[in-house]
Amino acid sequence: MSLKEYSKKRDFQHTPEPEGLVEVHTSTLVFVVQKHQASQLHFDFRLESDGVLKSWAVPKGPSMNPSDKRLAVLVEDHPLEYASFAGEIPEGNYGAGTVEIWDTGYWTPGGDFSDVEKALEDGVLEFILHGEKLQGKFALIQLKKSKIKNGWLLVKKKDAYAVSRPYDAYEQ
Ligand code: MN
Repeated sequence: MSLKEYSKKRDFQHTPEPEGLVEVHTSTLVFVVQKHQASQLHFDFRLESDGVLKSWAVPKGPSMNPSDKRLAVLVEDHPLEYASFAGEIPEGNYGAGTVEIWDTGYWTPGGDFSDVEKALEDGVLEFILHGEKLQGKFALIQLKKSKIKNGWLLVKKKDAYAVSRPYDAYEQ
């Protein structure tokens, strides 16, 4: 997202609005996990970045157990407004079925990076989730040598929030 349009419309000598010259990572970046009863029941994992929701389809859903490596297939960016979407996608439409919000909250960068796009290009994104069910350090790691197109792994990193018991997202 460019701030060109934003800046063009404003004279920062005369408005208290931020000029947007400083790149900040605030605690307000939203994340959401939606349980999606489509033709195949799955979870959609979304992280706000640069005005959109970076999105992965996670067949088994996230886990709080670091020994689980959950396949996460990168899909198209979704609009930010999608983070609060729950309801029925009518039959005959893409993704038809019920969407429920399984967990939501905010996220913060967890690794040594300042640019999500760059981290996504490099194939390693570490982040901290501040949700109800999902808390603490996680990572998304791209499967570079896999035949699975757009395949990533969503993993819980070891920390005080991690659990050692089996974790079934469908039962949480
Ligand atoms: Mn979905």
